[in-house]
Amino acid sequence: MSLLSEHKNPIHVSDKNFEKLRADCAHCFGLCCVALYFAASEGFPVDKEAGRPCPNLRSDFKCVVHDTLDQNGFKGCLAYDCLGAGPKTAQLTFAGISWNEKPENAKEMFAVYHVLQQLHEMLWYLTEALTLKPAQSLYPQLSILREETEQYSLEQPQVLLSFDIEAQRNKVKELLHEASKLVRAQCKSVERLGQKQKKTLGRGGDFIGADLRKLDLKGADLRGSYLIAADLRGCDFWGADLIGADLRDANLEDADLSECLFLTQRQINAAKGNSKTKLPLHLFSPVSWR
Ligand code: SF4
Repeated sequence: MSLLSEHKNPIHVSDKNFEKLRADCAHCFGLCCVALYFAASEGFPVDKEAGRPCPNLRSDFKCVVHDTLDQNGFKGCLAYDCLGAGPKTAQLTFAGISWNEKPENAKEMFAVYHVLQQLHEMLWYLTEALTLKPAQSLYPQLSILREETEQYSLEQPQVLLSFDIEAQRNKVKELLHEASKLVRAQCKSVERLGQKQKKTLGRGGDFIGADLRKLDLKGADLRGSYLIAADLRGCDFWGADLIGADLRDANLEDADLSECLFLTQRQINAAKGNSKTKLPLHLFSPVSWR
């Protein structure tokens, strides 16, 4: 039996909770276009400081160059995904009153958005961990932590701004790592990796521009790896942990990421792929890949 056929069992089950963590620009106040900074080195044509509206943002919070972001050098905007933090800040925390309607609230609103972005990222990962069949023993702890994180995200601005986000992140990180280990332990090919490959594929590895097509990536620990412009065509990521991996311009054509762990829409939007690239059920194929 080939290694590929051994690992075609699904890891994830579907979960409707991802739907609560989707961007919804129609119910936002262009918060990502104002509150965040841009850096010319990170997919933007110019630098922009946090809190200053992008010159392309109209007063109705629509983008003047929405249909031509790529051609205008705003690749960073195409990749960005607030995971639903924008509409929550706008409609729930600030009850639908925008920063240009009430400029005295602007600074606080932008700061809250930063906090909610981070809480929603935690919620996204916890939601995914709760879909991982091999991590079922952790479901009770994961559920409690997701509920707690969700409750914090509904708090008033003052509470959100005094919240110890780092402590919460560490709790989440620890549990996600446990879940990842349980999944990756199921991957027989990891046991078969030579010492050299195990070492090479460790967390935070530098694979910028590398051709990884010959490596067995199933069950690999690629957390925080630099995969910028890496050649990953046709690779099988069954059970590979990609949390925080930098996939900007990585070539994922024909790759199978359907059962990888902790991949986000932001990572996918920044990478290259094609109609044959397989993604997890909770992520979408970018229009340019179809
Ligand atoms: S270019 Fe458009 S999408 Fe990007 S930050 Fe500016 S207004 Fe927002």
